[in-house]
Amino acid sequence: ASYGLPTLEKESNSRENNVAKIKVVVRKRPLNKKENSRKEDDIVSVCENGLTVHEPKLKVDLTAYVEKHEFCFDAVLDQQVSNDEVYRETVQPIIPIIFQRTKATCFAYGQTGSGKTYTMQPLPLRAAEDLVRLLHQPTYRNQKFKLWLSYFEIYGGKLFDLLSDRKKLCMREDGRQQVCIVGLQEFEVLDVQIVKEYIERGNAARSTGSTGANEESSRSHAILQLVVKKHNEVKDTRRNNNDGNESKGGKVVGKISFIDLAGSERGADTTDNDRQTRIEGAEINKSLLALKECIRALDNDQLHIPFRGSKLTEVLRDSFVGNSRTVMISCISPNAGSCEHTLNTLRYADRVK
Ligand code: ADP
Ligand code: MG
Repeated sequence: ASYGLPTLEKESNSRENNVAKIKVVVRKRPLNKKENSRKEDDIVSVCENGLTVHEPKLKVDLTAYVEKHEFCFDAVLDQQVSNDEVYRETVQPIIPIIFQRTKATCFAYGQTGSGKTYTMQPLPLRAAEDLVRLLHQPTYRNQKFKLWLSYFEIYGGKLFDLLSDRKKLCMREDGRQQVCIVGLQEFEVLDVQIVKEYIERGNAARSTGSTGANEESSRSHAILQLVVKKHNEVKDTRRNNNDGNESKGGKVVGKISFIDLAGSERGADTTDNDRQTRIEGAEINKSLLALKECIRALDNDQLHIPFRGSKLTEVLRDSFVGNSRTVMISCISPNAGSCEHTLNTLRYADRVK
């Protein structure tokens, strides 16, 4: 008799068609200490899968009033929702179909300080736990599947390996819509504890520049990928030569990418006094716009997906074609002072949906 979880096959067959191609979720964080000590108002109220932003405004005669903005998404996660619940709502339903050639992407979008990293950090760990559990189920145990992890960053339009001393990487396409990042280190995930170590190591390597960690990391996109590969005991060399997604002796079955995007407000840094900041701002702006266009094209089943708009979308190219799944987690700050950024984030999410 089997108790608890259904077998993988049942689980994946019954779910495959149920998992939406694109899911847009909003997560509100609680007011932080600083905002509380300034007695800032919480202007975001959540109601089931909708939310209202109460924008404080002044009339010409300076009397105060509130303008309400209402939004509706696939799910809205209120401030008390735990990271475990976020995982169950966003990533977990996709896990079984990774074994059915699915390429999935989970983005955290939002202004700096809205909770992107807080939201994103635990997700790959939980996903790896579930993937490893499935790998060991009877259906897959005999198929020589292995799980691999890589972690890199896009900063100023360039790629850096976060797990090998920020080695600069370059990207290659094989003409079959497969993306290959030359030199990217991949590590086999044998046990889940190691994933935590990789994440910590990678985070420590994120761009810190001279102005402090959060400041600089908010200008980069961090991409952690978990890849399931099938490893043949007898190597078919002909296939190895022809097939671009062969690496480390395995063929990519499916993958999931976790992307902690650059702070959305950074895209507006295009008028900054510092030239480097302006260049980075323009790059971020370009990549977030291109991302929106790609997700929309995907949603409309468009044949032409505009990947070439930015490095970010080029890198994710193979995740926008074929059997793909996209989850966008839009993070918002609840304080009155963030109202404009919050509205921008919600409008972006609204357009993606
Ligand atoms: P971002 O990556 O978007 O710049 P962070 O994830 O670093 O933002 O979050 C900013 C701060 O808010 C951190 O100190 C983080 O611990 C806290 N925080 C974010 N989201 C939540 C949440 N849902 N619940 C509690 N604290 C949160
Ligand atoms: Mg962050």
